[in-house]
Amino acid sequence: PPDVDELGRSSWNLLHTITANYPVSPSPQQQHDARSFISSFSRLYPCWVCAEDFQQWMKDERNAPRVSSRQEFGRWMCEAHNEVNVKLGKESFNCDRWEERWRTGWKD
Ligand code: FAD
Repeated sequence: PPDVDELGRSSWNLLHTITANYPVSPSPQQQHDARSFISSFSRLYPCWVCAEDFQQWMKDERNAPRVSSRQEFGRWMCEAHNEVNVKLGKESFNCDRWEERWRTGWKD
């Protein structure tokens, strides 16, 4: 089975990188693609307890994916990641800085 930490790091890398390169003003099709990607991802993620908790978190309407702009999607992803950080007893990330971390860049 996959190493949950290694899988997590590489997955967050992909997920945040997707939001960082998402259009500032996405078309309806792009918004549809973002929603359907997240939905499929949450069902296929090969850490089943992780996937189950992620789906449960998204079921709350306050946590439904926000894909109407890069800013919205990036912030939503940061909040999703923070939910897992809190669950695992890790520090919460300042979501005002998501773009600095994942788009304009600083080193880990
Ligand atoms: P990671 O949490 O992987 O973070 C990588 C880098 O992202 C950090 O170094 C930091 O620079 C940046 N970062 C941190 N927080 C944020 C944020 N909020 N927004 C933007 N950037 C940020 N593991 C489990 O053990 N149990 C689970 O239930 C679980 N569920 C998961 C659900 C999902 C959807 C995903 C993708 C992963 C899940 N993981 C889970 C894995 C877990 O989140 C971590 O990836 C893993 O514990 C390794 O953590 P890490 O400390 O190396 O950094």
